Amino acid sequence: MEPSKKKRLTKRSGNDYKSTIRCLAHRSPLQAAIHRGKRYIVFDRGYTSWGEGETDWHAIGVAGHEIGHHLASHVFTSELSNHAEELVADQFAGFAMGFLGARTDQALTLFPGNRPASASHPADADRRIAVKAGWERGA
Ligand SMILES: [Zn+2]
Repeated sequence: MEPSKKKRLTKRSGNDYKSTIRCLAHRSPLQAAIHRGKRYIVFDRGYTSWGEGETDWHAIGVAGHEIGHHLASHVFTSELSNHAEELVADQFAGFAMGFLGARTDQALTLFPGNRPASASHPADADRRIAVKAGWERGA
């Protein structure tokens, strides 16, 4: 992302985030992680195509979700993931996709199904509401 766009995204998101988030290609589900005090987005290079010519909004949304966990400092807490934290990260994913030019239908591809809530994650329908709320702020 070009520096001026990154600065505008940071300002518009309301985060005065100064640290760097590094990406680490690894055979692992995409996730936010802390290693030796540094923030990482860990992803499987074989799984994540990033679109290769055509924008893969789902992949961008998943990465945005993990960045949202970092921005909200969820990775520093020892608590298990909970629904509220997931919805905060979903809102940031929607915000980022809106800011980067996704249409609302493209942003909502992040949770296309109808999975019910689990112990760790909200239902897809609730997640789409969070993504759309974030998208409306970012677009
Ligand atoms: Zn999450």
